[in-house]
Amino acid sequence: MEEKKFLKQFKVTENVSLKPNEKHDSEKRNIVIGGAWPYANSSLHLGHLAALLPGDVLARYYREMGDNVIYVSGTDCHGTPITQRARKEGRTAKEIAEEYNEEFDKTFRDMGFTYNLYGKTEDEYHKKTVQKMLEKMYKNGYIYEKADRQPFCDHCDRFLADRELILTCPSCGEQSKGDQCDCGYIPTEEDLDGATCVECDEKVHLRENKNLYLALSKLQPKIEEYFNENSANWRLNSKKETEKYLKEGLRDRAVTRDLDWGIDVTIPGYEDKKMYVWIEAVLGYITMTQKYCAENGMDWEEFWKNDKSKIYMVHGKDNITFHSIILPALLLAMDDNYKLPDVMVSSEYLNIDSEKISKSKGNGITINDMIKDYDIDTLRYFLMANGPEKRDSNFSIDDYITVHNSEITNKYGNLVNRTLNFKGLNCVPEGKMDPEFAEKIDKAYQKVGEYIENGEFRKATLVIMHLVEEGNRYYDSRKPWEQKNSDRIAFNDTIYTCVNLIANLSNLYEPFMPNSSEKIREYLEIEKATWKKITVEPNTKISNPRPLFARKI
Ligand SMILES: [Zn+2]
Ligand SMILES: [Zn+2]
Repeated sequence: MEEKKFLKQFKVTENVSLKPNEKHDSEKRNIVIGGAWPYANSSLHLGHLAALLPGDVLARYYREMGDNVIYVSGTDCHGTPITQRARKEGRTAKEIAEEYNEEFDKTFRDMGFTYNLYGKTEDEYHKKTVQKMLEKMYKNGYIYEKADRQPFCDHCDRFLADRELILTCPSCGEQSKGDQCDCGYIPTEEDLDGATCVECDEKVHLRENKNLYLALSKLQPKIEEYFNENSANWRLNSKKETEKYLKEGLRDRAVTRDLDWGIDVTIPGYEDKKMYVWIEAVLGYITMTQKYCAENGMDWEEFWKNDKSKIYMVHGKDNITFHSIILPALLLAMDDNYKLPDVMVSSEYLNIDSEKISKSKGNGITINDMIKDYDIDTLRYFLMANGPEKRDSNFSIDDYITVHNSEITNKYGNLVNRTLNFKGLNCVPEGKMDPEFAEKIDKAYQKVGEYIENGEFRKATLVIMHLVEEGNRYYDSRKPWEQKNSDRIAFNDTIYTCVNLIANLSNLYEPFMPNSSEKIREYLEIEKATWKKITVEPNTKISNPRPLFARKI
């Protein structure tokens, strides 16, 4: 049973995600949606899902609108934590990254994500392209050489990353990692002199080293201009965080490191170094768009170098400045007519039973655990209707089950079930649509569409649920079980109106609950989801409907 359910789910999402967009049509809008790249060293948990799901809702909505959509993401494969873990486990970093990449890809498909392309930073095309991008920034003078002093371990005979060091925190006196102490203190260069190497326990010393730096300070005026022009559409957290960094003044950052796991640097004199993860991962939005477009006969510049395109960045609040400052800075440094991201959809944190999800504390529920026991549609719905959109929010299994049972199953599921499964009904009756409902449906498409485009998903779900509730009130007040015997014309109008309401609810809910919408389309012979009012003609056969949702205990 589980297996069958899984296979069906897998098939549905695969078809959707692999279906190329229709060919370019100048009347359509060009939409880019970039979902943040999860890091390849632990399974995806509900916090990831809460932050990334808005991307899939946007992608499905714009596809229903008939727009040209490119929705991309991928696995962030490089960086010190993976190297450290590989050393501990006696495996290669590449093995670990590949393993998680495959797992993430499957988890996203299971959850109904419809990426046009889900890639990885170990992708050869990505690697070659970001190397060229870095060369371009270097030629343009935005990347320059600078000598600095870095912790060096004589025993291990290499420069260490900050997080490979242990020291006594000068602020709280506890043991701290070199990149940041649990108390919030960030060690200075002097603090790191004499810190301990995590690999061999020997003391390190600072040694002169040459690295390439990104001239963020030089780009500050342009980024400020970009921020002032665009941030009206951003979520408040991204506005505040970006403003804070700009006020403090942007500092140049090293883009190269002495590591053995990462993308090679091709700039002469730096061939033995790797790119820092932060510079290459965010460029994946562009490399994956290029790759997808090349494979599907589309022009990627219509998305990334077109003033009329709209670019959404979807991520959690710990990733804001990578998207609101770093990515725009890299695009500006290439000086090649790139469109900068328009909208930041930055989620707050999801707490589980009021405790912050933390990998180190081990209380993050993985999505793979949830998929085994719970309904994918209602899980998606719960996270969009009650998720951390504007402030941190809580997830508890009890709250989720309450929403699954009393909001979705009792209201939406019940309306669908008691209409389509009305005793003796096997096709849509010859009735007339209640004109008041026709108008309500029109308004819902407009209102919900506006909310989704603005990243206000909670409000969008409220509008649709309101329509469901009105549908149930209409059904109750019309009493079709009595009309059936007393007034056949009124009965036909009632059922006809409810069937058409349900057909349109399947469109409105498609971005949020794609599987149940797909079922309704099967029952009512609707070809595909569209963002406009549809009509199910009288005498359409209602094929074998079953309840959309099962109650959970
Ligand atoms: Zn060492
Ligand atoms: Zn401390």
